[in-house]
Amino acid sequence: MIKIFKSNLNSEDRYILELFSFFSQTKIHYVDTLNIDVIYFSSEPEDNCIWLYNENAKIDWDIYDPNESSFDIQKSNFLKACAVLIYDKVNKESFENNSNLDKHNRLLYENSFQHKAGYHAYPIVNCIFRIFSQFCNKKLNLKLGTYIPEGKKAIVVLSHDVDNPIKYPAIFSNPLKYGIVDSLKSHILYFLDPNKDDYFNFKIIRDIENSYGFKSTFYFQSINRFTNIGNKHDVTYDIKTKKIRKEISDLINDGFEVGMHPSYKCFEKKENYIFQKKELENITKKNVISNRHHLWSMGIDKEESLIKISESGFLMDSSIAFNDHHGFRRSIALPYNPILPDKNKKLLEIPVMLMDGNFFYKNHQIDDLKDIFKKQLDILKLESGIGSLNWHDYTSVPRSDFYNWGLGYVTLLEILHNDKEVLVMSNSEFNLYIKSLDVNIF
Ligand SMILES: [Zn+2]
Repeated sequence: MIKIFKSNLNSEDRYILELFSFFSQTKIHYVDTLNIDVIYFSSEPEDNCIWLYNENAKIDWDIYDPNESSFDIQKSNFLKACAVLIYDKVNKESFENNSNLDKHNRLLYENSFQHKAGYHAYPIVNCIFRIFSQFCNKKLNLKLGTYIPEGKKAIVVLSHDVDNPIKYPAIFSNPLKYGIVDSLKSHILYFLDPNKDDYFNFKIIRDIENSYGFKSTFYFQSINRFTNIGNKHDVTYDIKTKKIRKEISDLINDGFEVGMHPSYKCFEKKENYIFQKKELENITKKNVISNRHHLWSMGIDKEESLIKISESGFLMDSSIAFNDHHGFRRSIALPYNPILPDKNKKLLEIPVMLMDGNFFYKNHQIDDLKDIFKKQLDILKLESGIGSLNWHDYTSVPRSDFYNWGLGYVTLLEILHNDKEVLVMSNSEFNLYIKSLDVNIF
C-alpha cells in the first residue's frame, strides 16, 4: 500500500493516482499527516521535481534514464505532467490556429506537442507510471503488480472501421442519388470489372482472424450520406439492406463485436448519437457499447463530444488518434477516462496505436510496416500498454486494389500470433476482462 498525503490534491490529481493504483495493482491510502513512509506531491511548479519524498528530500534521479525520451519529466510535476497529456491540454493552443489542423479539424502530427517535443507519440504517461513504480519499489520496498494477466506484457485490440464494403454503391441505388453521369460511369466500370465485390470482406476477415484465435470489433455507420442528417463524407452503404444485415448477424454469432461508427457531423447533438445507436441496435438486436468516430471527426471540443458519447449509453470509445501518423495521440497507452473527473461521466477510452492509412498514405513497403509495428510492440511491452489497431473493412484482405494494405494487415496478425507475450482481443472482450478486475475508475 502507498500512503499519500492528501493536501493539495485536486480531482484530476486523484484520478491520475487512482489510474496508477489500478495499473500497478497497488492500494493507495490517503492520509492527513506526513510521516516517513508517506509520499507528498508538490503542487508548486518551482519545486522543479515530479514528487517529493518525505517533505523536502528530492528523489534520486538515478532511477530516471533521460535517454528513454526527451520529455522533460524533471521540470514537470508527476500528476500535472500526466494530466496535461491525457486531457490534451498540451495541444490546447494549437487548436486555436486553423493552420495546425487538416480539413476535418484534426491536429496534424507535425504541429502537435508530441511531435515538437520530439518523442514521436511515445506513451510518456506509461513511462512516468513505470518510473514512479520503480521509485516505490526502491524507496518504499513495494513490489507492484500489473493489470495485464500473468505471462503477458501488453494488450492489442483489433478493430475495423466499416467505411466501404460495397465497391460500386451506385449500381444498387437510385441513380439520382449519385447524379446521372457518375451513375453511368459506375455501371460501365462495374460491368468491366471481373472482381465486382472484392471490397466485401467480412467473412474472409472472420476466417483469417479466427484462424489465429482472434476476435475484433467492427464499427458500422447506421446512417449514410443519403439520409437527411448525412454528409458527403459519410458512407454509402445501408445497414438495413439484407446483404449487410446478414453480415452483422454473422459477425455477432461468431463472437465478433459490432460497434458504432458515428456519422461525420454526429458530434453536433447528443440526439444524433442516441438516434444512430438505436438504428444500429435495431439490426444487432443487442446493446452496442463501443464507439469510434468516422474520420476521427468529433469537432474541436473533443471533451464535449466524449460527454455526449457517455450520456448516450456507450461504455467505450476509441476515437482519439493521429490521422497522419502512428502512435499515441495523447501519449498514453493505457485505458483511461478521457473526460475530466469533475464532469462525473464514465467512459473507457482505448488508445489507438496504428491505423492502416497512418502507414499506407505514405509508404507501401511491407518490411517498413513490420519494422514500425515491431517497434511499437516493443514499446507496448516495456510500458505494459494497450493499443488499438484499426484496419478498414475493405483494406483488411490482400485482394482488390488494396492488396498491399491487406497483406500488411495479415502480416501484423502473423506477428501478433507469434508473440506469446501479447494478448489480442476485441473491445468488448477487453471490457469484460477489465470489469472482472473490479475497477470503477472508467
Ligand atoms: Zn470511417
